[in-house]
Amino acid sequence: MENQKNYSLTEIGPMENITRVILRDTLSLTGAEISANRLPAGKASAFAHSHKRNEEIYLFTAGKGFFWLDGAIIPVREGSSVRVSPVCVRALKADESEPLSYFCIQVDEGSLVQATRADGIISDVKPQW
Ligand code: ZN
Repeated sequence: MENQKNYSLTEIGPMENITRVILRDTLSLTGAEISANRLPAGKASAFAHSHKRNEEIYLFTAGKGFFWLDGAIIPVREGSSVRVSPVCVRALKADESEPLSYFCIQVDEGSLVQATRADGIISDVKPQW
């Protein structure tokens, strides 16, 4: 049965073909919300927003633009990573010359109790490629 697998996979295709894709349902996420996003050149978020309890991590994968964070304007581009506290009012704008692609990961602020070495378990299973 498909729903008994210990993993899920979805394909969003090339980032240049999307506007916004929410992966929570397609990946059956239980602890995070992830969206893939692309703002066309010169376009901005439809509105500024904050959150009640989720912090957001923005991972910029292509293009360049500007992040409006509580009134400060920060330039971002491919390779930029930004964490935003829930209460911070935010908005994005793509540069006039190129679109801005990014993933946004939402998690409950303060929910991470262990990571990587503290949570990982090295397996005896050897993958047969
Ligand atoms: Zn948000």
